[in-house]
Amino acid sequence: MSTPIEMRNEVLGNTLVTKLEARHFEAYYCPTAKEALEKAVSLVPEKSSVSWGGSVTIRNMGLTKAFHDGDFEVIDRDLAKSPEEMAELHRQGLLTDYFIASTNAISEDGILVNIDGVGNRVAAMSFGPKNVIIICGMNKVAPNLDAAISRARNVAAPTNAFRFMGKTPCVVTGSCRNCTSPDSVCSQVLITRLCKPAKRIKVILVGEGLGF
Ligand code: SF4
Repeated sequence: MSTPIEMRNEVLGNTLVTKLEARHFEAYYCPTAKEALEKAVSLVPEKSSVSWGGSVTIRNMGLTKAFHDGDFEVIDRDLAKSPEEMAELHRQGLLTDYFIASTNAISEDGILVNIDGVGNRVAAMSFGPKNVIIICGMNKVAPNLDAAISRARNVAAPTNAFRFMGKTPCVVTGSCRNCTSPDSVCSQVLITRLCKPAKRIKVILVGEGLGF
């Protein structure tokens, strides 16, 4: 028997699929991360080139491993042995057939909000890879665009800063201080309100809490 949270996620997720399609995204709702993984892999033809951003979500759900284990040409920035190699893999990732990422937030009417330090992920979302697959746990759905921006800036970004432990105020206080630190993880803010060309971005909503 489904819990009230699962039931609400399913109803809201399916409503959001319709909103995303009206914005020309391809969209799916999957109740579990396992089903989302299977859906994501099924969207990518074998032999395709695949890369991804620094998402905790896609690693924790086993998606990066699934692409390594399959018959794909993987460009994995996690294998970089130096900052220079990382930058080169970021550049190569912009010309792949499929780029996989999560999103920092999504509004209930289907607008994606993302914040990057370097910018390779938001670059790929806006232009470059032929296709983009976004995995989004329902914990990242915000009631409207303002709330989605607030979530990205005040929840996702300060948490993300703890992955890098740079010299930023949020690592000291736990909350965003709108810094201009060279170590800031918040250089680029991307609002994706439409998908163009249509269906280039495929959003898979997951009825579980994934990432932050
Ligand atoms: S304090 Fe700086 S690095 Fe931290 S979340 Fe705010 S803008 Fe980003």
